Amino acid sequence: MIKDFLLKTYEKYLGDHLSIKIKFFYIVVFGGMIASIPATITSFISKAGTAGVLTSLACFLFFVLILISARLTKKHDAIIFAAIYGLNFMIFPALYFTTGGVQSGMPSYFILGIIFTVLIMRGKAMFITLILELAGYSYLFYFSFNHPEYVATLSPSASNMDIALDFLIVSLCLAALVKVLSVLYENEQRHTNELLSKLEDLSIKDPLTGVYNRRFLLKYLESGISLNLQNNTPVSIIMFDLDHFKRLNDDYGHLVGDDVLRNLCTIFEQNCRNYDIVARYGGEEFMIVLPGAGEETAYRRAEQIRKRVEKTNFCPAVSEPITISGGVACFEKTMRTTEEFISVADQYLYLAKENGRNRVVWSKTRIDT
Ligand code: GH3
Ligand code: MG
Ligand code: MG
Repeated sequence: MIKDFLLKTYEKYLGDHLSIKIKFFYIVVFGGMIASIPATITSFISKAGTAGVLTSLACFLFFVLILISARLTKKHDAIIFAAIYGLNFMIFPALYFTTGGVQSGMPSYFILGIIFTVLIMRGKAMFITLILELAGYSYLFYFSFNHPEYVATLSPSASNMDIALDFLIVSLCLAALVKVLSVLYENEQRHTNELLSKLEDLSIKDPLTGVYNRRFLLKYLESGISLNLQNNTPVSIIMFDLDHFKRLNDDYGHLVGDDVLRNLCTIFEQNCRNYDIVARYGGEEFMIVLPGAGEETAYRRAEQIRKRVEKTNFCPAVSEPITISGGVACFEKTMRTTEEFISVADQYLYLAKENGRNRVVWSKTRIDT
């Protein structure tokens, strides 16, 4: 339940509607807000003095303010600038002076500031900010060494405690950030892979029936034929065409017609082996490729499918039986192109139509004229 709640909250605030950059921003600001609570407690425990505790508290309030203004105004680019500059050039330096300077744990927070900058900013803005940060921190050290009177002094025991606790907080922050980043990256990659496979499906499948499209079929036939020629195994095709489909469309409407096409493909697929290919060749013409099957095997399979289609009431909206006609061809070495191969099946299909439909014709069919 807690997991569901967390997932829902994540989707709402950090879902796919946000760019990676904005996601980082929210994660860093939210993480910073959470981390500044123990940091405030740390300042308190390590006797950093009232000023130290107040600046830690200011850090927490600063993150809250950034989060609220980002949610309310949605002006993320401006708020990212405000967050990075406010944190690195106001909050962290103020904490540095009020919690004991270089002897406190504060310098480790500067590393966090630099990592935030690299994570959230991009391009020139990032480079300029990094240079400013490095120059700013260097000057801060230089200034504080020369003017120790501006730096709150901690007792040596307090400064050890401060460094140890701050080190712990910064390490935990970094570990959490790395974990979040790797999870984000994995999610992004899974998402991209899903999109890619959807795209692949779209490019090779027919959207109405879900079987392969003509483009894939032709490519597959070419590679299948050369593979079968190499291995000296046969490859056959069955070309099917729905009988009087135009009439069916006219009588029942195109939507019912679409349903017939979809259900017909299910029958085709149910009667195929795993390595057979069912494809939509044209409007209501389908082709089944049977690698490794000779002409007779393909003919028997075609007959079996034709009878199954005739007998099955696969579209309850249609009262009369729906039938198909087919032509079968097996690739022969004398054929020079895929088109030639297909045209043989097409010619037999034409004969099947000519001779009364609801039948399959192949080279051994006796046609009485
Ligand atoms: P035959 O038995 O000689 O094949 O006659 P037929 O009516 O099936 O053949 P014809 O070529 O005259 O008509 C094919 C029809 O298929 C016409 C067209 O509207 C329909 N059709 C083609 N693609 C689709 C489709 O995606 N959905 C629907 N509902 N109908 C389609
Ligand atoms: Mg037809
Ligand atoms: Mg047709």
